[in-house]
Amino acid sequence: MDRRQFCRSAAGASLACTLPFPFLSAAHASTSLRAVTSDGAETELERAAVREFGGELDGPVMIAGDSGYDAARRIWNGMHDKHPALIARCASSRDVVHAVTFARERNLLVAIRGGGHSWPGKSVCEGGIMIDLADLNQVDVNPERKIASAAGGALLNNLDTASLAHGLVTTAGVVSHTGVGGFTLGGGFGRLNRRYGLAIDNLAGARIVTADGKLRTVSASEEPELFWGLRGGGGNFGVVTQFDFRLHPFNRNVLSGLIMWPMAQARDVLEFYGEWSEKVSNDLYTGPLMVTTPEGDGLVGMEVVYAGDPALGEKELAPLRAIGKVAEDGIKVQDYMVLQTHEDATFHHGVRSYAKNGMVKHITQGLVDAMIEAYRPDPRLAFFTHTAGGAVKQVGELDTAFPHRNAETMVIVAGAWLDPAEDASAMAAAREWFAALAPFTGGYYDNIEFEGDSSAAGNYGPAYSRLQKLKSQYDAGNLFRLNSNIKPA
Ligand SMILES: Cc1cc2nc3c(=O)[nH]c(=O)nc-3n(C[C@H](O)[C@H](O)[C@H](O)COP(=O)(O)OP(=O)(O)OC[C@H]3O[C@@H](n4cnc5c(N)ncnc54)[C@H](O)[C@@H]3O)c2cc1C
Repeated sequence: MDRRQFCRSAAGASLACTLPFPFLSAAHASTSLRAVTSDGAETELERAAVREFGGELDGPVMIAGDSGYDAARRIWNGMHDKHPALIARCASSRDVVHAVTFARERNLLVAIRGGGHSWPGKSVCEGGIMIDLADLNQVDVNPERKIASAAGGALLNNLDTASLAHGLVTTAGVVSHTGVGGFTLGGGFGRLNRRYGLAIDNLAGARIVTADGKLRTVSASEEPELFWGLRGGGGNFGVVTQFDFRLHPFNRNVLSGLIMWPMAQARDVLEFYGEWSEKVSNDLYTGPLMVTTPEGDGLVGMEVVYAGDPALGEKELAPLRAIGKVAEDGIKVQDYMVLQTHEDATFHHGVRSYAKNGMVKHITQGLVDAMIEAYRPDPRLAFFTHTAGGAVKQVGELDTAFPHRNAETMVIVAGAWLDPAEDASAMAAAREWFAALAPFTGGYYDNIEFEGDSSAAGNYGPAYSRLQKLKSQYDAGNLFRLNSNIKPA
């Protein structure tokens, strides 16, 4: 609902419209709290019912004005400044059951916040309920079974740190303050995915609270169809309270780092990459990036992780390192967590950000030419890739609900800036850059997409009709709709 429309219809509209959040300004003055239903209509929540709900939870229930409310409603992307009517900061799976039940019974708009990294801001909502999992961040590792059990709000750093402490690892993404929840449910690309597959390929099971308020255990043998849908179907089927990942023995001292060249050498670097990349071993993860320094110097680079014997990695990387005149070669044997955290500060919380991506089947000469021509010397923007292929490609197209198995890579243009006055120009520049690459892509990765909503159904490809049946079975009322939404059949 448009805020203006809401203000026109609400009693005391003139006062409410001058305040930052009309729903909650009214809350403290009356016996009810204004909220929004899943289809955008206004509704009123009895304050007594809200108090009773708060009393049932181990964690706090917050409304505007409560200490902690403003911090909790903020998510990573500073472009999203929304005010849920309630925030249920869950401390247990039991709390999640209560929160889902409370929301369903009142048909409230529901946002689920895992790590809060959703680019389009789907983990927060205006006027509904935010089911906030930030305190459910424990990761327990069973080294004998080689399983890491991550709570629904754990961050990738929690997962990597707990697993590596036992000499084990699973695929995690490239910025360590990203949430395990959204990351995994959308697929989960990381620097080890050519070796071990996507995060969903390592998922052995999960615990999920579905729209009916039931806490279910799912795996290949328990509710297998729901388990299939979780692996790529986003948050469509419920609130996942636990993810169980298969782990792999891993020497954390890996040959890894960044290698950079001046932009003038982009053609040599990218043409070499186009020929070489589809032939490299599954131990090698490397993909191009293009950035501009604050001083305006363009750099083309590669991020490298070699997940095997460093001596073999040195041999495999030798031709890459021999290209032209390298500006900086930071590839060396170093702790895996150095690279896993080196972008954390750049992508800090509160930055304003936009991203567009597309999946690429083959790195053709046409794409290489487009990469070079599309480059914009704008320090707010970057081009980068998430390399796939390898183990990602070895999983069948419909073995999970993630459809883009035949892609070799994902091309991404993202922007980051601080001043709201730059929103329009930064987004326009990123769109223009990506538009030059778009003809070489087919489908996109929903997790790194600011505006995929209108094409969500098509992007699930052949998995969509099966996902729709599953959605009808577990969430016919579409309670969980702030995601890459699957419409119930
Ligand atoms: C800086 C940055 C770096 C990134 N790097 C990578 C990367 O390397 N690889 C990659 O694959 N992706 C990456 N991403 C994309 C990332 O995977 C998505 O943004 C993902 O949605 C983040 O998960 P989250 O839990 O932090 O997000 P949230 O904003 O909390 O949630 C995102 C979506 O997932 C749902 N959700 C979250 N947790 C749960 C849960 N427990 N149960 C049910 N639904 C849930 C939410 O409802 C929402 O729809 C990155 C994003 C950012 C901002």
